[in-house]
Amino acid sequence: MIAERMKELVKGSSVIRAMFEEGKNMAALYGAENVYDFSLGNPSVEPPKEIANAIKAVLDTEKPGFVHGYMNNAGYEEVRQAIAYSLNKRFGTSFGQKNILMTVGAAGGLNVILKTILDPGDEVVTFAPYFGEYRNYVANFGGKLVAVKPDTATFQPDLAELEKVLNKATKAVIINTPNNPTGVVYSKETLENLAKVLESAEKRFGTSIYLVSDEPYRELVYDGVEVPYVTKFYHNAVVGYSFSKSLSLPGERIGYLVIPDTLDDAEEVINAANVANRILGFVNAPSLMQLAVAKCLDAKVNVDAYDKNRKLLYGTLTKLGFECVKPDGAFYLFMKCPIEDDKEFAARAKKYNLLLVPGSSFGCAGFVRIAYCVDHAMIERSLPAFEKLAKEFGL
Ligand code: PLP
Repeated sequence: MIAERMKELVKGSSVIRAMFEEGKNMAALYGAENVYDFSLGNPSVEPPKEIANAIKAVLDTEKPGFVHGYMNNAGYEEVRQAIAYSLNKRFGTSFGQKNILMTVGAAGGLNVILKTILDPGDEVVTFAPYFGEYRNYVANFGGKLVAVKPDTATFQPDLAELEKVLNKATKAVIINTPNNPTGVVYSKETLENLAKVLESAEKRFGTSIYLVSDEPYRELVYDGVEVPYVTKFYHNAVVGYSFSKSLSLPGERIGYLVIPDTLDDAEEVINAANVANRILGFVNAPSLMQLAVAKCLDAKVNVDAYDKNRKLLYGTLTKLGFECVKPDGAFYLFMKCPIEDDKEFAARAKKYNLLLVPGSSFGCAGFVRIAYCVDHAMIERSLPAFEKLAKEFGL
């Protein structure tokens, strides 16, 4: 018999993954080339060749007993040092190896930092639309997720609304830029203003409010858009990074947390996060992948392939009369439904073999998410289906 609490979680478990399964069933039924599955954020671009070379080099050249063993729960010192050095070079920060904790992807990192800081009943604020798993990650530690209403004209964070929900119980704010599902990137001004709101709330309540920046899409940006480094703007900022999307390695489960010295109780947080990584059962991030990514910190996936998809989809959908904010990063389009009910709209899209995720999965009804990390040819084949869908709704 499974736990009562788990029953609820299973019931509410990701619509997106259910759609992925459905996509496979539909492909078996109609033929894979006739199904247009835009449901999952699984990178379609291959990892850069440096990765395979780095894995081989690690296996060929590292000293015996080093590659496959346990290590410090935070990860190999030399890997953390290499990451700190790379960040400092790129962003003018001054991290040392002690500020870097290697994690099992962004998901692992978020769970580690939330376990580190949350007491039961603490509130964690995020901005709708948001990655649906945040709700589960916060609940894992007895916290409560509070979503700030979306500004659907821009999908930039609504700081006036944020101010209204902050209170003495607010322990953290999670942001995600570039954003899943909107593709929006937060500007320097936005981060500066966000920092001001949080600093003033910290003073008002006499508390620490940690800003957790979830950044698996940091490297996936278009038209030269800059993604400012948040620790420069706010003293209590923690960054969660992942190589899942930046190097197309989601199955390898590798990422890191940056916990700067400027944090309130930094030393204690760093030590506790180390323990959290162990006792959550991760123990440490996968050793071979730690050593491999440390050799590939300047490697890049072919972002141009995503950009080509973005241009074709955004251009076509807006021409057909659909509305969406042009994404600056990540690999998602968040399209407004021509009717209020996003689930109904997604169900009607399915009649044309289009698999789109209802916005309500991201706490933002009335929209659908289209993941364009797919084969370009599939997008081309899908366009007549989108055209039929537009016609059905009188666009
Ligand atoms: N955060 C966001 C916003 C995501 O979109 C994802 C994955 O899609 C994750 C975290 C989890 O990523 P990872 O594979 O690094 O655990």
